[in-house]
Amino acid sequence: MCFPIFHAWLTLLFFRLCAVTLRSRPSLVYCASRTARTASLLSAAPQLTQRDETSLEKNMSTKVAVVTGSNKGIGLSIVRALCKQYQGDVYLTARDTGRGQEAIESLSSEGLKAMFHQLDINDLNSITTAAAFFKDKYGGVDVLINNAGIAFKGGDDDIMSTLPPSLCLSVSSGADTTAFAVQAEVTLKTNFFATRDMLTHFLPIVKAGGRVVNISSFVGARTLNQCSPDHQQRFRSEDITEEELVGMMQQFVDEAKRGEHKKGGWPDTAYGMSKTGLTTLSMIHARQLSKERPNDGILLNACCPGWVRTDMAGPKAPKSPDEGAITPVYLALLPPGATEPHGKFVSDKEVQPW
Ligand code: NDP
Repeated sequence: MCFPIFHAWLTLLFFRLCAVTLRSRPSLVYCASRTARTASLLSAAPQLTQRDETSLEKNMSTKVAVVTGSNKGIGLSIVRALCKQYQGDVYLTARDTGRGQEAIESLSSEGLKAMFHQLDINDLNSITTAAAFFKDKYGGVDVLINNAGIAFKGGDDDIMSTLPPSLCLSVSSGADTTAFAVQAEVTLKTNFFATRDMLTHFLPIVKAGGRVVNISSFVGARTLNQCSPDHQQRFRSEDITEEELVGMMQQFVDEAKRGEHKKGGWPDTAYGMSKTGLTTLSMIHARQLSKERPNDGILLNACCPGWVRTDMAGPKAPKSPDEGAITPVYLALLPPGATEPHGKFVSDKEVQPW
């Protein structure tokens, strides 16, 4: 009597078990391939569909390189080289969206595909918006190249002023007559303080295995030797902190404004001082990374691209922008597992004395 009922119940149970197994199988396979990072991301957004999750997963595993000030000059050439050599998305960034889009189109006409994001390093809001974008879309950045920079043309503070007169004579005509105090404040604002802001907001999102390259200059290395012995000792010391360095850079600007920078032990070059500061900052950050993220294998260096024909350095320079990109790109693409260079100043792919 009970057998037909029992049989019907067994059949129902069998089909329910099949349905549950079939429903759960794809998600089991999917979960097995998740990294810890995406798992925590998914738990923060439980409302996502599996399709959303899959596309996020894809982005999170896509590598990404970001270059500041890359609508022209050396920055544009760095993006060009990365488009050819880097296995990941390459972001050309510019403070002006129009100039950035034009650069994207010029690369596109060469058959190269770069992506664009607005980024003005003098605008903190622009920096934090960009950092949030890369964190959300890619889980951080794999390569960061701080290239954006400025220089006043001509006069004592020109980028060329430390070169032999025969080389810089023609480019020094039409020297900028802006007061040194203004040059000091404006140059350090972009080249040192704004680049530091970039690093403050982007270093925490540099992924394990990441590469950070700060475009400094041989002028910064020469300027170091023109500082007072006390300043030189601090710039070169292993125990200088970021706060102390920021204080020194601010002291230079303040004393330049009062016309007292020479008495304070600083040379007459705002551009040079900005790059001395940037190279020193790179060394401080590299030491911090080694201490605070010892297992992440991040390599951070400063470099000089050489003397390069750009709007900044003029037409007499020996290197083309693509040649200027070689050392920055070499540092950006140091192979996985490499342990050096790290915290160095590099030129022509060689570590330079500091
Ligand atoms: P360019 O003047 O050709 O290019 C500078 C780039 O930086 C431009 O894209 C410019 O944008 C951008 N930039 C300036 N300020 C900002 C900002 N606030 N936010 C975002 N982008 C900004 O110079 P180079 O290509 O010659 O220089 C590139 C880097 O290389 C600089 O850091 C420079 O100091 C360094 N360098 C250059 C040497 C050379 O010989 N050329 C030698 C040694 C170092 P925009 O078009 O909007 O002005």
